Amino acid sequence: EGSLVVVGTGISVAGQMTLAARSYIERADIVFMGIMNKVGEHVVKKINPNSISLDDLYEQGKSRAITYHQMADRIVQAVVEGQNVCAAFYGHAGVFVTPSHEAIRRVQALGLDAKMLPGVSAEDCLIADLGLDPSRFGCQSYEATQFLFRDYKIDPYMTQIIWQIGLAGEASLSVLNANHSLSGLAILTEVLLEHYPENHEVIVYEAATLPICEPKIQKLMLRDLPRATPTLISTLVVPSLGLPEYHQERLARLGLTKEQVI
Ligand code: SAH
Repeated sequence: EGSLVVVGTGISVAGQMTLAARSYIERADIVFMGIMNKVGEHVVKKINPNSISLDDLYEQGKSRAITYHQMADRIVQAVVEGQNVCAAFYGHAGVFVTPSHEAIRRVQALGLDAKMLPGVSAEDCLIADLGLDPSRFGCQSYEATQFLFRDYKIDPYMTQIIWQIGLAGEASLSVLNANHSLSGLAILTEVLLEHYPENHEVIVYEAATLPICEPKIQKLMLRDLPRATPTLISTLVVPSLGLPEYHQERLARLGLTKEQVI
């Protein structure tokens, strides 16, 4: 009987793949790769020569929703054929990845084994490189386009981690480069300016994907964000305004005063 394990390969090809992920890649009958990086693919192929890229399914002008569905089709098909399949995506395979979750759901619905292993995501790298602890101020982490399209609420006292800013506002899901996102970034900036001063420092971040490379950490004032040139692997960080005021009434109900909890 076929089975599926979905693993992440990490952001940097230098040692961010877990030992468990490596072992599943090694033992699989076939590995499907959604790694978006030739060096990363090379690393996986060295561990298991029967590794096939899913990237040929991306096409300019084709909706990414269809691409993702076709990726899941390929993975599920191989499991149905009775193979022990490993699907390897870069970063954490479950973070901002559609076909990984879809493939697991579909394989499980067929009554077959499917699971996901945790991996090192861009957010994990960001926390390490920028020295941000999400617990310090709390953290809101979301995708730029979904945020623009829907009426979400920003809490400026929490750290904001905004993914896919290189494609902000890109509705057709058919664009494969980051040039079309200028108005999206401008509108995102407007929304942020409702909550932060225009000289608030924001960070456009790119974790290193190759060994010996440094992360790219571009600090700029919020008002200059529309002129930033994010790539497809940029993530935006908007630091917190600080800790919010104490909620006196809740403290009182707990029998506490401000002085007791500092
Ligand atoms: N599964 C991946 C995320 C895929 S979605 C993970 O676990 O990190 C793609 C988005 O991830 C990008 O638009 C960007 O916001 C973020 N990302 C991917 N690679 C990155 C990198 N090297 N540095 C910073 N952010 C990155």
